[in-house]
Amino acid sequence: TIPEKPTEKQEINYSAQTNATTIDDYTILSSLGQGAYGLVKLAKKVVIKYVIKSRILVDCWTRDRKLGTVPVEIHILHSLRKTPHENLGDMLDYFEDADHYYIVMGLHGAGMDLFDYIELNNHIEEPAIQHMFKQISLGVRHLHDNKIVHRDIKDENVVLDQSTGGLRLIDFGSAAYLKPGRKYETFVGTLDYAAPEILRGNTYSGKPQDVWALGILLFTLVYRENPFYDIDEIMGRELRIPFVLSEGSVDLISKMLERDVDKRINIHQVLAHPWLNC
Ligand code: ADP
Ligand code: MG
Ligand code: MG
Repeated sequence: TIPEKPTEKQEINYSAQTNATTIDDYTILSSLGQGAYGLVKLAKKVVIKYVIKSRILVDCWTRDRKLGTVPVEIHILHSLRKTPHENLGDMLDYFEDADHYYIVMGLHGAGMDLFDYIELNNHIEEPAIQHMFKQISLGVRHLHDNKIVHRDIKDENVVLDQSTGGLRLIDFGSAAYLKPGRKYETFVGTLDYAAPEILRGNTYSGKPQDVWALGILLFTLVYRENPFYDIDEIMGRELRIPFVLSEGSVDLISKMLERDVDKRINIHQVLAHPWLNC
């Protein structure tokens, strides 16, 4: 039977999502049936992260009544299933064998991360940077509002879907839950993105260090280079701005790359900054 009015589903424009997709992008699992007009097969379009059990650090495991003893990465991804966010990685499923955990995630775009994107594009227009940075910041705000810190924010951990312009912060392998009064001691993440107080060996609370890393990421998006090149520079060198893309971007970068933790802006202030709201 032919419906008289187009249903809602027929009105959806799928072209954006199906861009650059071929049948080879899908893994065919099995055949479900054969009708008069063709075949129906069970397929998946996913990413699987193999996590080697023996490489998971002692404090990156957690116990859960339902999940049992699992890596914090899986616990956090599992908890985000209840409160998903379009700018964060998603876990569809996970399973394990003797040596590995396997984290099944949706494939977003063609598997390009922001590191690759910056390498491939030697000029990104300011509105595009604002749009990308805002999405990453929205993802971080969602984490912070849900008492999670990421602790490894960097360009490689952001995936980009070029057909929709959508960005997602991924890789919760260093992420942690916040608890009142809880401080972290161990350095996790990536040196280039580490806040000075972490490198000084101080305990840290998590959220301000994510904002610092986000500041490094914004600097990298604008200038295609790191603001600091070694530990001494991170700890003490005055921030050098190669050129003024705009007063707003410079102001936001310098407020995120504030060495005094108490003066550094938080993620809500980042998102309220005029440069992201003009
Ligand atoms: P690691 O903890 O080893 O850094 P990541 O979770 O960051 O592992 O994944 C490694 C890389 O794989 C990422 O930098 C990204 O390029 C790619 N990747 C991971 N998850 C996805 C995903 N869901 N969609 C597309 N690409 C992904
Ligand atoms: Mg990573
Ligand atoms: Mg990781």
